[in-house]
Amino acid sequence: MTSREASRAQREIQNLREENARLMSRLSSLSRLSLLITRSLDRTTVLQEVVDAACELTCARYGALGVFDGSGRIQEFITHGITPEERARIGDLPQGLGILGLLQHRQQPLRLADLTKHPRSVGFPPNHPTMKTFLGAPVRLGDESLGNLYLTEKLNDQEFTPEDENLLMLFASHAAIAIKNASQYTRESELRNQAELERARLRAIIESSPSAVIVAEAHGGRIVLANEAANRLLGIVLRPGEHKERYERAAVYRRPDGSIYAPEELPLQRAIREGVTSRGVEVIFDLPDGRKVPTLVNAAPVRDAEGKITAAIAVIEDISDRQAVERMKADFLSMISHDLRGPLSTIKGLSSALLMEQESIDMATVMEYVNSIDEEADRMAELVNNLLEMSRLEARAMPMAPEMCHLADIAAESVKRIERSRIGGAHKITVNVPTELPEIYADYDEIGRVLGNILSNAIKYSPEGSEIVVRSYRDPKDSHMIVTEVKDQGVGIPDSEMDKLFTKFYRVTSQQGRSRPGSGLGLAICKAIVEAHGGRVWVESKLGAGSSFYFSLPTAAKGAET
Ligand code: ADP
Repeated sequence: MTSREASRAQREIQNLREENARLMSRLSSLSRLSLLITRSLDRTTVLQEVVDAACELTCARYGALGVFDGSGRIQEFITHGITPEERARIGDLPQGLGILGLLQHRQQPLRLADLTKHPRSVGFPPNHPTMKTFLGAPVRLGDESLGNLYLTEKLNDQEFTPEDENLLMLFASHAAIAIKNASQYTRESELRNQAELERARLRAIIESSPSAVIVAEAHGGRIVLANEAANRLLGIVLRPGEHKERYERAAVYRRPDGSIYAPEELPLQRAIREGVTSRGVEVIFDLPDGRKVPTLVNAAPVRDAEGKITAAIAVIEDISDRQAVERMKADFLSMISHDLRGPLSTIKGLSSALLMEQESIDMATVMEYVNSIDEEADRMAELVNNLLEMSRLEARAMPMAPEMCHLADIAAESVKRIERSRIGGAHKITVNVPTELPEIYADYDEIGRVLGNILSNAIKYSPEGSEIVVRSYRDPKDSHMIVTEVKDQGVGIPDSEMDKLFTKFYRVTSQQGRSRPGSGLGLAICKAIVEAHGGRVWVESKLGAGSSFYFSLPTAAKGAET
């Protein structure tokens, strides 16, 4: 080998070494990138890497990746070689009119020595760096066009080579996978978020449910959800994740006959174990604090798509109120029959006596009998009227007929009426309703009935000769409301009974007044009438010392607004 040949061979070896080094560097960049793309789900990072690496490996000064939205418009533009300030100066994202538009509809890359000379070139926007050499490739996945990737200004005034072109195609396919992966990820996380949102919504609904709701998972029967009402009912703080034993031990669960349910017989456990749906099972919660809460339990298994039981849900309704009402109704019926039968038999007895003894009976006795008949008839009429009134109020069939009126007139008339009545005359009724108070816009007769009811109670439940005071004044807390108070010096009401007085059929049990006739409807009627006028009723009382019943009504000015 001549020395010339030897030095040529050496140059070639050198060239091959350099070429090899270059290829190795490209290969390592490519594999680094592939790794990144498969690992990272942060699409912006990956896409920036793609553009940076493409520029680096092809020695391009500028590079850009435009990502399309569903309609093929560039929605994201990732660049290399220009600063954010420069980008801001260029302005809007490219619209893909010129060369970029051409690229979008091509399957193949596009390599240009001078892009400004291409017939589709539309020039650069102001402040855009001038660019000459160009290498672009569509970013596609199958038939779907996802964007375009292009490089400009190969360094050292060189043109892009076919090798660069191959490399760019490779990068474009990487970009396509990254974009696809990311959108898949976004879709999945959207679905996850949606499911999360639905779960949260469901939780909120369960949480705000007035019925107690308990959810147990099938595996191990652990309570995974118990709402506020459930915790209140059980009198414990039962948090999700607490073991079912806590729930099972929170109370002794009894049947209405008093016998105890075995844990596996309880509706929730039956739903888990046997897939049984239970409706309206009566369970009495016998709680450690001494409460015995009657409930109706509905329970059902929750199954997955394959029908496997994954959990069970129980909705527990506290029926103590309902049972109390049932009891009150039963009491009421017996009371009604007693209270109606009593006067009825008196009337019947007295009138029969009058008929049979008309020859022998003297006038004074006749008058006495007739008075008694009249009294008893009044009592019956009051009861029947109250019943009718209550059912009318409940059916909202009784139209209120509001008019401008004054409480002073209503009070004066009510007091006069009651004093003239059978029960009146034995008490000293003082009225203090200043005429300076504003008028109210209300049903005159109905408000009269409210005051009449409260006054007749005051008379019924306080000793003869005691004083009853009726007064009206502006509500100190709300000058648009007028409060009327009826204060007596009677038997008073125990604290524990105070909040139940306005419930229909309710009568205080431990009271002398219990022996007095009544239906337990009067105050419920008052409440309904006052509330229909936009006011409220309440009571203050001291056992043995007397009671004050109050009702408030809006002034006419206020009433007209509402
Ligand atoms: P009733 O027809 O039984 O009087 P109400 O609804 O008018 O029915 O009253 C309900 C209960 O409230 C009464 O049975 C009585 O126990 C109690 N009550 C009402 N007013 C008074 C009062 N002024 N003093 C004491 N207890 C009262």
